[in-house]
Amino acid sequence: MSSEQDILTAPHERIEAIQLEGIKKTVINCYEHIPFYRASFDEAGFDPYAVSSIDDLRSAPFVTKQDLRDAYPYGMLAVPMRDVREIHMSSGTTGVATVGAYTEHDLRLWADCFARGIAYANGGPDDVVQVSYGYGLFTGGLGAHYGSLASGATTIPISAGNTERQIRVLREMGSTILCCTPSYAMHIADTALEMGIDPATEFHLRAGIHGAEPFSDNFRAELERKLNYKVLDVYGLTETMGPGVAIECLEQNGLHLAEDHFYAEIIDPATGKNLPDGEWGELVITTLDREASPVVRYRTRDITRILPGECACGRTHRRIDRLHGRTDDMLIIRGVNVFPSQIEDVMKTVPEVSSWYQIEIDTRGALDVVTLKVEAEPDFAPDTISEIEGLQREIKARLKAALSVGIEVKLVEPKSIPRSEGKAKRVIDLRKGIK
Ligand SMILES: [Zn+2]
Repeated sequence: MSSEQDILTAPHERIEAIQLEGIKKTVINCYEHIPFYRASFDEAGFDPYAVSSIDDLRSAPFVTKQDLRDAYPYGMLAVPMRDVREIHMSSGTTGVATVGAYTEHDLRLWADCFARGIAYANGGPDDVVQVSYGYGLFTGGLGAHYGSLASGATTIPISAGNTERQIRVLREMGSTILCCTPSYAMHIADTALEMGIDPATEFHLRAGIHGAEPFSDNFRAELERKLNYKVLDVYGLTETMGPGVAIECLEQNGLHLAEDHFYAEIIDPATGKNLPDGEWGELVITTLDREASPVVRYRTRDITRILPGECACGRTHRRIDRLHGRTDDMLIIRGVNVFPSQIEDVMKTVPEVSSWYQIEIDTRGALDVVTLKVEAEPDFAPDTISEIEGLQREIKARLKAALSVGIEVKLVEPKSIPRSEGKAKRVIDLRKGIK
């Protein structure tokens, strides 16, 4: 049994011992090398030298995305620049980017974490991994790339975009594992079908490792049907490493955290209090062995829960549930919390519409008005306007029944919602002053 196999199936007490050691090292490292942590620990009265149990970590203060932004560019580095081999940055679409730095050790750790996903898909040297995440500062491309190299597979670093070429490579180069966002995988499948190519029989895929955006079980089922493969969800974020913090196994029943490298907590986002296993809340991560960019209790803003119980695959690392979205993606519609993925789930019960949609928020007088624009399936051919209106009413009623909120529904032409090569833009906020 390899040591990698060994650590993935170790008794949980052994993993907890590794975590306690990692927590002790990380809090001291942060305190001694990053002025932000020295100030925030001191202010909270948290003594990093006094940690003697994992629970002691709960009295450490949180670190937020804003804290990381405020430290831009190098304020959160725990090592001298000469030890940094690579820099990545979050997209920074809503403001200043956050920076992730990697030493040689950090890059190896990242590669090993993502390689687990390839192993979870029973992949290895006999596989051809097509990396269709964008390369560059976004962690998706190179994270999958390093993971694929570490797994011994053949790597095709095609990056995102040029969809017809993606399709040619999928057909001709024998790619068996596809790494990209789920929405891009769907776009590849749909484009192939339009070109008269059936990806279920003409591609050679066994598995897709898809992440960087939440997607519903129904969306997954549709991908699996169109591409004739198994879809594994992968989770990660630049602030803690990149993709590979947690990855699904073939049981498709939650994502195994890389618990020997990350310690996860779930908190109530409003109060900051820890929640028991099984309850939904905000994921908080502490890195256990990152050198350049360690974090202590980083608030990810991602909503998930720890799944109680053991996984049938035999691996002992705890699992997080598939993401419900981010606390900042959550729409508050007339006082009701709604995640875009919940709207997606409702639409999937309507055969006349496709999985492409956009949610538009605007104001009418003092009220927020939310409109769901959803594409009709290409073979839905209504004869009359009233047939379209009837379908819109029907979807609206189903949304109301499932979510208890009123959402306007507008059926739009197939292919009229912009396709993305990376993360799909699901929510358009037209309210003044809100971006
Ligand atoms: Zn499992």
